[in-house]
Amino acid sequence: MQTHWKKLPSGDLGVVTAPVRASDNVERLLRALIFSGRLAPGDKLPNERDLAAQLGVSRPTARLALNSLHALGYLVVKIGSKGGYWVADVDSIKQHWKEWMETHRDQLEEMLDFRRWVELEIAARAAERRTAEDVAALEELGRGPTADRPSYVQWHIDLHDAIARAAHNRYLEQSAAVIRGELFVPVGFSVTRFPVEEAVALHRPLVAAICAGDRAAAVEAMTVHMARLDEPFRSGLE
Ligand SMILES: [Zn+2]
Repeated sequence: MQTHWKKLPSGDLGVVTAPVRASDNVERLLRALIFSGRLAPGDKLPNERDLAAQLGVSRPTARLALNSLHALGYLVVKIGSKGGYWVADVDSIKQHWKEWMETHRDQLEEMLDFRRWVELEIAARAAERRTAEDVAALEELGRGPTADRPSYVQWHIDLHDAIARAAHNRYLEQSAAVIRGELFVPVGFSVTRFPVEEAVALHRPLVAAICAGDRAAAVEAMTVHMARLDEPFRSGLE
């Protein structure tokens, strides 16, 4: 056994990247929540102490993430005893999303590729492994947004979460959550280009194939879905 610390290699580490700061992870998580609409424009964030406690990070880490998102324009701040951080308005969020995508343009194709692989694998596995419980959940969600679940964005998240769960592989499920956090289109961005009824209809063959246990049809339906879902990322950057 060696008695000295091993010196870390220096210089270009190739694909091995340096560990990110804890605040980067908090920032990424909050950005994903904002892009996905779970934190909506105008929502007030928990204060620094509560945010740190909820995420299991230190207060300085939570503060760094909040400061950074404020500097980037995702959050607005109000000073004073009733002060705190609020999610910025829809137009600011859209603008920042476009800028964020611009600066990550070189990664975009890799992210879209990765998402396609993960989602196609999820569709295939879900068709093979779905339980009666999964089928019941998927059939209910497959009907589209309802009176008690009116938000299209929330419905879409819930449906894809249910599909990912039906694949019964936690690593696959986690990969899907990570890549969706990176690629989410902010609320309201694509509504005018992609009517809700059309979006809901796009998911019907996918849900039906998974419930029927038809792997080939599930993969085919997810392929069609992914091609459609990639569009806003490409057109949004034009
Ligand atoms: Zn979808």
